[in-house]
Amino acid sequence: MNFKEHIRVVENWPQEGISFKDITTLLQNGPAFKGAIDELKQLIQHLEIDVIAGPEARGFVIGCPLAYALGVGFAPIRKPGKLPFDTIEAGYDLEYGKDKLAMHTDAIKPGQRVLIADDLLATGGTISTAINLIEQLGGEVVGAAFLIELTYLTGREKMGNVDVYSLLKY
Ligand code: IMP
Repeated sequence: MNFKEHIRVVENWPQEGISFKDITTLLQNGPAFKGAIDELKQLIQHLEIDVIAGPEARGFVIGCPLAYALGVGFAPIRKPGKLPFDTIEAGYDLEYGKDKLAMHTDAIKPGQRVLIADDLLATGGTISTAINLIEQLGGEVVGAAFLIELTYLTGREKMGNVDVYSLLKY
């Protein structure tokens, strides 16, 4: 399937110079959404994953159906203040300022093999923070899966030795 034809590219959003890849047009098309999750599953199913972790909000949209398809658990990675139980946090730099992500302390058990899932890999800031959190909890990050990879932003280079799997490249 040609998934790119289901991605809407919005120029100069959310700011001048950004070419935003909007996945809502893929999500609203049943066969395209199912086809994309099925193909991502094919890419990563050799990894022997125990749990998938995904950052809010679009990481849930990709990570949850993937976890369901594999029959493994899902651990949400959220902005601070959203998770009700004990949490750990890690910070990362944005273009302007800083941001933080949080996970429940019991979201990952030591030694579990974790796949990170998100809609899109850009600079890699979000996913490096996710890797930091999962490793703090004793998890082993065995891969990171994305619907879209912006190869011109070289986020892959920030992943260290974590393998990157992406369906669409721009
Ligand atoms: P990174 O941390 O720079 O790799 O940015 C990735 C995060 O920003 C992901 O969680 C994406 O949801 C979001 N993001 C950045 N650019 C886009 C885009 O063009 N389309 C959709 N999401 C984007």
